[in-house]
Amino acid sequence: MLDSAAKALFHLLAQSKTLQLLASRLGMERQGSVVHRFVPGETIESAIRAARILESRGLTETFDHLGESVTTLDEAVAATREYLAVIRAIAEAGVERNISLKLTQLGLDVDRASAVDNLRKILELAEPAGFFVRIDMESSRYTDVTLDVFETIWQQGSRRIGVVLQSDLRRSENDLRRINALGARIRLVKGAYREPKSVAYPKKADVDAAYARMMKVLITDGNYPAIATHDPVMIEQTRQWASANNVAPDRFEFQMLYGIRRDLQAMLVASGYRVRVYLPFGTDWFPYFMRRLGEHPANVAFVVRGVFAEDHQ
Ligand SMILES: Cc1cc2nc3c(=O)[nH]c(=O)nc-3n(C[C@H](O)[C@H](O)[C@H](O)COP(=O)(O)OP(=O)(O)OC[C@H]3O[C@@H](n4cnc5c(N)ncnc54)[C@H](O)[C@@H]3O)c2cc1C
Repeated sequence: MLDSAAKALFHLLAQSKTLQLLASRLGMERQGSVVHRFVPGETIESAIRAARILESRGLTETFDHLGESVTTLDEAVAATREYLAVIRAIAEAGVERNISLKLTQLGLDVDRASAVDNLRKILELAEPAGFFVRIDMESSRYTDVTLDVFETIWQQGSRRIGVVLQSDLRRSENDLRRINALGARIRLVKGAYREPKSVAYPKKADVDAAYARMMKVLITDGNYPAIATHDPVMIEQTRQWASANNVAPDRFEFQMLYGIRRDLQAMLVASGYRVRVYLPFGTDWFPYFMRRLGEHPANVAFVVRGVFAEDHQ
């Protein structure tokens, strides 16, 4: 994990509309682009190709059509239409029926009711087709509204949806009790956003300790939880806790991001665990890419080396 100043820098860059525009103009379809390590491509076809490779290795995936923070209702409607097309393409290709999305991509910042309508449209197509739909968690500004929308949709009878809780937020252990009481599926993460001390633990040791506590509750009392981390210590603790409590490996899954700790992904599959890879694709890859750089210093060196190599090809 980078220190908070560096994390802040990458979050600032991620929000830059100018850089985002430049990145999307430059594109990433060029062979050898360093972005490919984390995002297999801009089209659903490229994501489906990557999914087939993952599945041939015993992994599963969740597709994320990249996009967030849309600022007009037209953009939100367009994003919803794109998701519907993505669902049809996945169903036609016969790969894993599992998608992840963000409420701000569906217009949450513009109008909450419209975002909920857009989510419903997606669920109306996805659920009968056997898809699972995960609502990603964004920054703490959106925690309340995301959980409220999730709970409303759940109370209305949707069951093939799940949500995400972040162990860096002080509130999350309470949220875990609330969502677990519904019997809903939770993905546990450490949290990718830069948060103020008032709402989040500033020290990594506290984020990790909260992660371990929440993991234990989820493994023993959760409904098919997703333990989403690349942290070998957390993964080992999960394995030990599950085995000590006689929780079989098919009652939970590990999740990791595309291109990150592929060695661990393969090791877990070989040891009989389920591993789902978060598979992002689309032209709007810039903020996602910046968050991955902000998480891990070695990625910056990787990108710098890659750009240097590209310049000399
Ligand atoms: C499937 C999945 C879905 C996610 N969904 C959300 C979400 O909805 N909302 C949200 O806020 N966050 C989400 N995240 C991101 C998460 O919050 C963390 O920011 C991210 O996973 C890094 O934390 P870590 O648990 O891997 O542990 P860390 O302690 O940060 O890292 C442990 C080790 O993992 C490796 N590693 C971690 N990150 C990287 C990286 N970027 N590049 C290379 N190596 C790395 C390194 O070896 C590092 O030492 C998701 C993560 C995963 C795996």
